[in-house]
Amino acid sequence: MSILVTGGAGYIGSHMVLHLLEKGYEVVIADDLSTGNKEAVLANKFYQADIKDEKAMARLFKENQIDGVIHFAAFSLIGESMQEPLKYYENNVTGTLRILKYMDEYGIKNIVFSSSAAVYGESPSPIKENAGTNPTNAYGETKLAVEKMLKWASKAYGINFAALRYFNAAGSHVSGRIGEKRKIETHLIPIALDVALGKIEELLIFGDDYDTFDGTCIRDYIHVSDLASAHLLALEKMANEKKCGLNMIYNLGSEKGFSVNQIVEAVKSVTEVNIRTEIAPRRSGDPAVLIASSEKIKKELGWAPQYTDIRDIISTAWEFRKKMR
Ligand code: UDP
Repeated sequence: MSILVTGGAGYIGSHMVLHLLEKGYEVVIADDLSTGNKEAVLANKFYQADIKDEKAMARLFKENQIDGVIHFAAFSLIGESMQEPLKYYENNVTGTLRILKYMDEYGIKNIVFSSSAAVYGESPSPIKENAGTNPTNAYGETKLAVEKMLKWASKAYGINFAALRYFNAAGSHVSGRIGEKRKIETHLIPIALDVALGKIEELLIFGDDYDTFDGTCIRDYIHVSDLASAHLLALEKMANEKKCGLNMIYNLGSEKGFSVNQIVEAVKSVTEVNIRTEIAPRRSGDPAVLIASSEKIKKELGWAPQYTDIRDIISTAWEFRKKMR
């Protein structure tokens, strides 16, 4: 089986590729390297192309027999999406539209889509999949728009899809081979680790006046390798299904919430370095609390996350970050 992984040079995408290769799948990567890294490209077949580039995508689909698609390629920064919403709509929505057109043209029936907890907005936690969707930021709106597009494409073209709504992806592959490496880092755990390494002087805590037990935002951190295993379970479920038009929506989270302050404490404990912090204004678009209920995927697909302790997750991130060039 040959799987197209869009965004396969990115943080979650590269962990997906490694997982697929470990399980014996053939992998084709499409990634324009706008945010991904060349050294994270682990498959032999690599198309350095924007998924909106019709010529390049036409060539990719013509040259390869694709059995399923795992679609990560997207912009994913909440703050940036508030400044430049149209950039997010163009890339995230139009990009997926192109992929779906090729899937229809080539009769490819199965797609796993990288969605986000950002589709929920301020829903009370723990959040189940049937909670209302009301994104507080443009990034979440683009993910929700794609989920809806998938639903209609599924009805019309008999495509099976799984939309996986991740909470906060964290950690790195246990081998240390790949990890969380971006050109511009905005995420809490890598920034806190960079403070531990002395690369950054202090961590800005975006708001301590939220309605939470310590005033800082609460998030649910899930290991990136556990995310990868969930994608493969969803893809295999679709591949083994006789019917067409399967719609699956699942949350992926650890079902535990940690405040920004608690993450800082956990980073101090793992690195044994003091982390200097300063309180800064709230970041636009941030909901106060996001914690998953992941019961549905555990029950229906037998997903069992391997990393259940936040310090273990941070340790894998730390091992990678110390060696990162
Ligand atoms: N955060 C912070 N300082 C930072 C980066 C993030 O206080 O330098 C907070 C952010 O406001 C959010 C949480 O940490 O409440 C997780 O943010 P991150 O950007 O890691 O992931 P997101 O929740 O945006 O997907």
